[in-house]
Amino acid sequence: MKMSWLSFSMSVTFIYSLIFLSIEFAGSPFVGFKGFALLVAQWLIATVCCGGIMGAISVSRLSFALLFPLMCTASAALAFFKVTMNVQLTPVSIELMMLNEARTWSTVMSPALFFVILIALIAGIAIAVIRWRCVTVKHPLDCLMLSVIVILIPGCFIPRLYVPVMERMPFVFYGAFAEYRMNRIGITEHRTTFDDIDALAPDGAPDVVFVIGESLRADHLSLNGYSRTTTPLLASDTAVISFPGMHTIPCYTHTSVPHIMTPADSVSPLRAYDDQSFITLFRKAGFTTTWIENQNVSPTFTYFLHEADTLIYPNPSRSHYDFGKWLDSDILPVFDSFALRGDRNLAIVHTKGSHWWYNSHYTDDDALFTPEIDSRLLSELSQEQIVNSYDNTILATDRFLYALIDRLRYRNAVLIFISDHGEALGEDGNYLHGDDYPTLHNPACFIWYSDEYASHYPEKVRALRMNASKRWLTDVMFHTALDAASICTEALIDSLSLFRQ
Ligand SMILES: [Zn+2]
Repeated sequence: MKMSWLSFSMSVTFIYSLIFLSIEFAGSPFVGFKGFALLVAQWLIATVCCGGIMGAISVSRLSFALLFPLMCTASAALAFFKVTMNVQLTPVSIELMMLNEARTWSTVMSPALFFVILIALIAGIAIAVIRWRCVTVKHPLDCLMLSVIVILIPGCFIPRLYVPVMERMPFVFYGAFAEYRMNRIGITEHRTTFDDIDALAPDGAPDVVFVIGESLRADHLSLNGYSRTTTPLLASDTAVISFPGMHTIPCYTHTSVPHIMTPADSVSPLRAYDDQSFITLFRKAGFTTTWIENQNVSPTFTYFLHEADTLIYPNPSRSHYDFGKWLDSDILPVFDSFALRGDRNLAIVHTKGSHWWYNSHYTDDDALFTPEIDSRLLSELSQEQIVNSYDNTILATDRFLYALIDRLRYRNAVLIFISDHGEALGEDGNYLHGDDYPTLHNPACFIWYSDEYASHYPEKVRALRMNASKRWLTDVMFHTALDAASICTEALIDSLSLFRQ
């Protein structure tokens, strides 16, 4: 039996997609026939792009024999981990894989995994034998060019497909490793901003917990007068001072986080990508520093994670294309174990907060506002559903932050919260934060202090209250973090601290 290259590669693509891509799409929420049809359309787009890879490797029978069984076994292992443990291949999970010792690896191995891999290997080899014996390629160069053009669709021709395709098999094997490599470059960068700058803190310096929120807009907090009770716990604590006039110029996670962490300002915004963060100065001042990361990291801020003494990922293997729970409350056990170990501590907590697919980021206990979103397609949802689910994420954030505050209540401690940006919730027909909308520039910001902190630093508390009603730029966060701990350093500009009048 002889087969053409086209019919062979199309058949292999279809079988591969039917098994592996379908597993990736399983669990995607949708409503009605239209929602299902749109999901199928997305599956087809991912399948077409996958066809480019299958076409390219099957032009040569040798490359197919080498690569296809390998692709089958890797995909089977990934599918197995997704189905059994909801674990995805992400830059962070790769980083942890590289760090883990053989002993840790042995805990995820199981007879069922070996069986699945064996079946995939046998099937991969059998299909490679068919390619070797039965497929004829009449114009290999044309076939290769056609395949490359299809592979480049998400990267070059339709950029909005890049992320959805690159986070799915088989592209994820390239996408996740490429991003992991980019992160490694960021981590190993040599920055010297504070090499010649001293930082000292007084005896009995307080613990500082610096929480970076996600997509939380100031005007949706009842703390700031929002009509719904979204922050009942924070609003009940008179030691929480909110800054509703906070304004951010960067409005994406990957641009805003570096801006918040460094002395970057509107005059020198590029310092965000060249400078060290305030973590280095806290370390110089004798603080034990911990970064707890509950997001997928970006190459623009991986450097800062590794400035800290300890780095922990409570949810290292989550992708935006799975719809299970991805909660900030998962941070609490690791916070208890690591964040307050030293005499003086700095903990950076980067939360998942109010990121889209909102329902993943709160539990049934916080599903107070209904009806919630039930389809991942915005066109299928009403504005009411979107706002309801968004507001439910704020209830979860309120509960999470209050739990952190409870852990600090009887210490000399201060908690600073700043969201990276806001979120569009239907204003002018815009949603989420994929582009630059006015609603992204007013992030939630507030500061909590313990009684002991107030007794040591009454003038700082007074300044916070005086500054609460003013308009600020997130340029102040770097200086505010240092000043919260009374760190004495020439890097601190007093007039840019919320703790100074
Ligand atoms: Zn963000």
